[in-house]
Amino acid sequence: MPSPARNSVAGGHNSAMLIDTHCHLTSAGLIERIDEVMANAEAAGVTRLLLVAVNVADACAALELMAVWPQLSLITGIHPHEAGKVSEQDFAEILAILRGEGVESPLAERIVGVGETGLDFYYDFAPPERQEQVFRAHLDAARELNLPVTIHARESELRVCEILAEYPALAGRVVFHCFSGPPPVAERALNLGCYLSYTGVVTFSKKAEHIQASARMTPLDRIMVETDAPYLSPEPVRKMRPNEPANVLHTARFLADLRGEDFDTFAAATTANAERFFSLTKD
Ligand SMILES: [Zn+2]
Repeated sequence: MPSPARNSVAGGHNSAMLIDTHCHLTSAGLIERIDEVMANAEAAGVTRLLLVAVNVADACAALELMAVWPQLSLITGIHPHEAGKVSEQDFAEILAILRGEGVESPLAERIVGVGETGLDFYYDFAPPERQEQVFRAHLDAARELNLPVTIHARESELRVCEILAEYPALAGRVVFHCFSGPPPVAERALNLGCYLSYTGVVTFSKKAEHIQASARMTPLDRIMVETDAPYLSPEPVRKMRPNEPANVLHTARFLADLRGEDFDTFAAATTANAERFFSLTKD
């Protein structure tokens, strides 16, 4: 194993295993150097990575990576940013992939979730009504296929919660990726049975006090960690472009400190949560 990466990223002894529950490894800047990215992740103790594919072409590219790397699993859907241009045909193809149609069986078993889906009221890529229609289609699919859901919510968390409340069958089966809301929003989501997953944004000391407050009140059995690579590099490597899964270690360390928990205990809990939530098979 490449020890330079261990020194630069892990920095000292590190026994805990982590799962990066949300990354986009098919992105430019990561896929070209995938061997190095995967070696860095392993050196940092990131034993499993959940790829999030945001459209059909991306899902196909992700499946190709999964054929090479057994530690990768797939979450797929149509990103809310793409809701305005998605066709019935695109969505039908995503559903077929989620059902494992045309996917070799060992890979099909590693298709573990629907998403990222939700509402984005920060950007203006698609009208809210259209986003909501596509979001509901994903929730219907998750219910039908008995899969958990990864939510993208930006300035829309409370509307997302209102919609989720209409889907009691999905209680306990929804995670807010890159959770960025204040404690009252966290409480609303937690009361619906949702999990909250934190990115490097929680480490941005000046801008993230409300997110940190949410992270402190998230129960240990409902919290997950992720990078959202290639975006959102955490402190202290915030200037690193692109972000990569090894850096989830920094976010996990920050969160353990913030919550006053032993790092190994916190890391093991987030890993167990992700394994249970996504029904990941243990090696
Ligand atoms: Zn994402």
